Amino acid sequence: MDREWTDEQNLLRRTLRDYVAKNVTPNVLDWEAAGEVPRSLFADLAELGVLGLRLSPEYGGGGQDFWFTAVLIDELMRCGSIGVPVAVMAHAEFATMLIDRYGGPGLRETYVRGAAEGRLIGSLGVSEPDAGSDVSALRTRAVRDGGDYVINGSKLYISNGTIADYITLAVRTGEPGAHGVSMIVVPADSPGLRRRRLKKLGTHASDTAELFFEDCRVPAANLLGAENQGFGMIMSGFEGERLVLSVMACSLARLMFEEARNWGQQRRAFGRKLLGFQVWQHRLADVLTRIEAAEALTLRGIDRYLAGRPAQSEISMAKLFATETARMAASECAQIFGGLGYMEECLMGRLHRDALAMTIGAGSSEIMRGLIARANDLVAS
Ligand SMILES: Cc1cc2nc3c(=O)[nH]c(=O)nc-3n(C[C@H](O)[C@H](O)[C@H](O)COP(=O)(O)OP(=O)(O)OC[C@H]3O[C@@H](n4cnc5c(N)ncnc54)[C@H](O)[C@@H]3O)c2cc1C
Repeated sequence: MDREWTDEQNLLRRTLRDYVAKNVTPNVLDWEAAGEVPRSLFADLAELGVLGLRLSPEYGGGGQDFWFTAVLIDELMRCGSIGVPVAVMAHAEFATMLIDRYGGPGLRETYVRGAAEGRLIGSLGVSEPDAGSDVSALRTRAVRDGGDYVINGSKLYISNGTIADYITLAVRTGEPGAHGVSMIVVPADSPGLRRRRLKKLGTHASDTAELFFEDCRVPAANLLGAENQGFGMIMSGFEGERLVLSVMACSLARLMFEEARNWGQQRRAFGRKLLGFQVWQHRLADVLTRIEAAEALTLRGIDRYLAGRPAQSEISMAKLFATETARMAASECAQIFGGLGYMEECLMGRLHRDALAMTIGAGSSEIMRGLIARANDLVAS
């Protein structure tokens, strides 16, 4: 993305580029086959000082702003497997930022420090079989019993679900609707928690799970903030999550564009390079134009978010446009590869199927359009 990066951010980029080229890219096919990234990835990133970039320094984090996270995502994406940045972001951003922001000192000492040091892996559990886009409909219930909460219910599509050591879990503690939701940290070895890995179409290096809670006991001290305040926490976390997805989508789209351009410069048909046909020059020009527009919207969303200004409209536009651009780029860029673009052996083929998930997670395109409509007076009174 085109902006004035600081010396520190450029240094981070160089460090990560070297690490990813030597230690991630050569292994991603094995990790995709295994359906998960190894724990050593988290330990290595912690060792490099880049795992908890936005977490509080007093608990081992980097205390940096979102631009550093953007560099991390962009460089991890270069490995060619979107499951890798998804696993790292689900841990460091989605699961742990909420604990850092709303947890008491004891929880932060255990989980934020453990996360930043790469000793503990986190996941965020919000979605359920009957409550995805509509978070306020979630039903997994936590009932206070002495010094514990007893949790019953289930969660679906949880990234890092089977490899996590803790789950930052959304539960119902009060009345139906948004006002009865709380957040609690559930250690993964809690009795009464079962986990099942799901098979997905893509993002194979990121493990995704269904979680079952049957009289699962968790200390009441693991509650984040006050009871029934969880919905606002989830919504505040969504801003960062949507920017993460926006950056990821821009990086993915650019990677696919570069693959397609390289292929168009070498593959020949009817005696010419494919980029000798104007149709391909124009199709890839359209892809690049959309990528640059998506990057501009994403930069604007990050700027407003970091300035502490209301940013729901800008962030929703960035997430909507960047993820739809990734899907469009996937389709266009795979097409120029012909049959090869449909093969697992081909990087473009794998990026193509990975791109499909981007318009669903952290609020679907339809939800983004609804938020943009509400923020811009487009809803009839
Ligand atoms: C790879 C992957 C990883 C994920 N990781 C996590 C995770 O770590 N933690 C977690 O909690 N969740 C996770 N999710 C779940 C994700 O957040 C949900 O899938 C998403 O919020 C959509 O919910 P749903 O699947 O239940 O779809 P639904 O909410 O049932 O929506 C189905 C369709 O209806 C549309 N729709 C819904 N409401 C409206 C409306 N008001 N107007 C118009 N259209 C509407 C949706 O856009 C969608 O197209 C993940 C999902 C995927 C695919």
